[in-house]
Amino acid sequence: MKILIVEDERRLREGLVDLLSAADHDVTAVADGRTALDTGIAETFDLVLLDLMLPQMDGIEVCRRLRQARPALPILMLTARGSEDEKLAGFAAGADDYVTKPFGVRELLARIDAFARRASSRPAEPELLELDDCTMDLGRHRASRGEETSHLTAREVGILRWLHRHQTRAVSRSELLERVWGTSGDLQTRTVDMTIAKLRQKIERDPTDPKIVVTVTGAGYAWGDGGS
Ligand code: CA
Repeated sequence: MKILIVEDERRLREGLVDLLSAADHDVTAVADGRTALDTGIAETFDLVLLDLMLPQMDGIEVCRRLRQARPALPILMLTARGSEDEKLAGFAAGADDYVTKPFGVRELLARIDAFARRASSRPAEPELLELDDCTMDLGRHRASRGEETSHLTAREVGILRWLHRHQTRAVSRSELLERVWGTSGDLQTRTVDMTIAKLRQKIERDPTDPKIVVTVTGAGYAWGDGGS
């Protein structure tokens, strides 16, 4: 399984990496909430192990936003013993289950196996999008049109994923800021326009006449003709 570990305590984080790598999992570890959210949105994981007390953005907020961006992603919280409020807040934010720290190795591995069995029965999100002769490989961050291949940034992948998932309607700039950047207010919506202009250079046949990420006047952007 591809697992994202989010834990700011270095020793615990490294211990988890060793343990799960030894159990043949493909492990990525990050130490703060902001990076966790960016990584969780940009890449596809089978499971997130999420500590709740984190620098930069707390685990509850990370969980809430990850859940919005990736409804099917299994999230297992790591909670401190006796913190009932934390647990409830985690569930309210969309976590699937929790493990209380400190936990035993066997308990954790058993919990992860149970998750793997549940996760394998859920439909996967598409990683390969095709429209107007462009193939967008979201897992590998690549867009190809004919012989030409471009690298897609994490934000660009996030935009494509979000627009595609909501392809029956237009998506506003502020929604993209909230869901893809994970922010609201502190960034200008102009940032969205600039990022989309760059993305169009990579995926559109003619960036001045886009057919994939289409502008919907007064509403924002849409996947293909979904917004019209
Ligand atoms: Ca912590």
